[in-house]
Amino acid sequence: MAEHEHVRVAVIGSGFGGLGAAVRLRRAGITDFVVLERRDSVGGTWRDNSYPGCACDVPSHLYSFSFAPNPDWPRNFSGQEHIRAYLERVADTFGLRPHIRLDSEVLQARWDAEELRWEIETGSGTLTADMVVSATGPLSDPKIPDIPGLDGFTGKVFHSAQWDHDYDLRGKRVAVIGTGASAIQIIPAIQPLVGKLTVFQRTPAWVMPRMDREISGFERRLHTAVPPTRALRRQMLWLIREFQVGAFTKHPAQMRLVEKLAKYHMTRVVKDPALRAKLTPDYRIGCKRILLSNTYYPALTRPNVDVVASGLREVRGNTLVAADGTEAEVDAVIFGTGFHVTDVPIAHRIKGADGTTLAETWKDGMEALRGSTIAGFPNFMMIIGPNTGLGNSSMILIIEAQLNYMIDYLRQLDTLTTAGTGRAALDARPEAVRSWNTRIQERMRRTVWTTGGCESWYLDANGRNTTVWPGTTGEFRRVTRQVDLAEYRVLRAPAPADRRSADTVEAAR
Ligand SMILES: Cc1cc2nc3c(=O)[nH]c(=O)nc-3n(C[C@H](O)[C@H](O)[C@H](O)COP(=O)(O)OP(=O)(O)OC[C@H]3O[C@@H](n4cnc5c(N)ncnc54)[C@H](O)[C@@H]3O)c2cc1C
Repeated sequence: MAEHEHVRVAVIGSGFGGLGAAVRLRRAGITDFVVLERRDSVGGTWRDNSYPGCACDVPSHLYSFSFAPNPDWPRNFSGQEHIRAYLERVADTFGLRPHIRLDSEVLQARWDAEELRWEIETGSGTLTADMVVSATGPLSDPKIPDIPGLDGFTGKVFHSAQWDHDYDLRGKRVAVIGTGASAIQIIPAIQPLVGKLTVFQRTPAWVMPRMDREISGFERRLHTAVPPTRALRRQMLWLIREFQVGAFTKHPAQMRLVEKLAKYHMTRVVKDPALRAKLTPDYRIGCKRILLSNTYYPALTRPNVDVVASGLREVRGNTLVAADGTEAEVDAVIFGTGFHVTDVPIAHRIKGADGTTLAETWKDGMEALRGSTIAGFPNFMMIIGPNTGLGNSSMILIIEAQLNYMIDYLRQLDTLTTAGTGRAALDARPEAVRSWNTRIQERMRRTVWTTGGCESWYLDANGRNTTVWPGTTGEFRRVTRQVDLAEYRVLRAPAPADRRSADTVEAAR
């Protein structure tokens, strides 16, 4: 990277968000941009999570870009390697490679209020940019809980998102910590291999059947030959999920019926009453993410599996001790304990107009305007920012909506710059951010995430839901279609003449 390079847009991250941003920028005729990626290849979530059994849990025809359809998805819920290959193809097909800087971790980005631009320090050099689009992912920094004694464990330890493929699990005594979305994919995949599997479950999950199947050769040929059939399939998948939203956000009582189905799904397979009791949640379905699996419950009934209905409290030598005192000596510990979600690591590296980091600004909780922009952080936008997550549908719909917002933001900047004197920047007005978040939190009160009686990773340290969008994806698309200038302060760089005279004054002192 050349010293003092300047670009119009610096995108951070090369997952669905970063690559999508790159495609949309090019399509808008903007080629003066870079995509900064800390790792040595693209793909984000789908590069990092290579654990056995890893797959999406939203059907592939919906969990993909609308502008990059893939008639060839092999399954309803495609596996990690297919999604990763898809993203690699997106990078090639849309000519993104020249823009992508791999091994370029963003270490710090600082807003220069004089020059109205971002100064960005990366692992491979520095650059400046008019705008920063942060697409560092909601689930990209693994979280391993601070367990007393873990340091003294002499066996193998890794997180689901950092799978060690060189470690042979065959015949080993393995503990899986957690029973969230990743863990329930891992457990059935490794159960036949390992000698003994101990599952540490703090809270049982609601698990629904997974309507997975191969997409037949006929369907694939049809989708290739008659593209509207693929579009129709996507539309149907989308509509079904839009109709479900009301039950999550307004009428949680309706979820009782779904709960009955989930209970039947479990009791059909799990005959042992003691195991059933351990696996039955005591909160409303939907409060935590609903998991999909046909193989999880059967795996738990196998003779080499033990479910400890208690979280991991400490490690003594090579023995794991649960909060309820249950002990298990193991050779390997796999953490399926999720990610830093409400304490996003990139926030510590972004410094706004007054030198404050985003993490300091968010010390009482994350908030943004329309899930995207933050007061005091001009020309900075976050893909999958606060309150943009979904409980039941494809995050790609949210990402694409935000990319519309990004393109309109850049268009507005262009118009303002052409119409005024000197370059312009936009800074979200604090009152606009406040009013947006007040409305979000009011709507949050009725939702299943608030009333369902659970503690979930959707909630921050103060118990506030700052992660999920309490509406349909259609509504989110509407509210991010355009940037409303009334919600922003327009900042102006001093005209060159003013700057010269300022310099002269400075020199004369
Ligand atoms: C196992 C798993 C399964 C999932 N399944 C689904 C699903 O079925 N449906 C669904 O809608 N969602 C699913 N998700 C959520 C998923 O994360 C999003 O759908 C989507 O992939 C997020 O894309 P992203 O580009 O925002 O983030 P990511 O894919 O996480 O990409 C972020 C990128 O930013 C890079 N980065 C981070 N910090 C820096 C830095 N400082 N400097 C440079 N680069 C940086 C990372 O290396 C990474 O490449 C799943 C998540 C996981 C973990």
